Amino acid sequence: MSRAIYPGSFDPVTFGHLDIIKRSSAMFDEVVVGVLNNNAKNPLFSTKERKEMLEESVKEFGNVEVISFDGLLIDFMKQNDISVIVRGLRAITDFDYELQIAQSNRKVSKETIDTVFLTTSIDYAYLSSSIVREYASYGTDVSDFVPEFVVKRLENRFQQ
Ligand code: ADP
Repeated sequence: MSRAIYPGSFDPVTFGHLDIIKRSSAMFDEVVVGVLNNNAKNPLFSTKERKEMLEESVKEFGNVEVISFDGLLIDFMKQNDISVIVRGLRAITDFDYELQIAQSNRKVSKETIDTVFLTTSIDYAYLSSSIVREYASYGTDVSDFVPEFVVKRLENRFQQ
């Protein structure tokens, strides 16, 4: 059975992420969306909130599970018998960093892990969680970028 993990911060999940999840769910038997537990980095939403928004977003896919994880991605993968990482590539600016991570993960995992890159749909090429946070913080409508329940959470967060 093919299992892949799509790791990220998802602070918050956007339509760009959901496009990658949808496409990878058609490619692999099971997809685990891995929410990095990086509260130390001071994200806008807690790990629990980010996970809840993802769970709501992936309900329609029968083979996608959302988990949160700490520590090294490849350790988590070994423990859970996952050998493929999915990452999205938006622009050339993503490439340097992603190449370095993919190559080092391959080396450190003794060549047991591979990374698969999906190129973003043109519709979402410009989209990032940080852009969504920035617009939402000024009260701008972000419903073209994220699902409605994420819009609501952003509104609540910035009203506080
Ligand atoms: P990270 O903090 O690991 O970069 P993100 O939540 O920002 O986590 O992104 C997770 C993954 O989703 C990364 O592979 C990133 O390139 C990809 N991604 C983010 N936004 C988009 C988008 N608009 N289209 C396609 N892929 C995207």
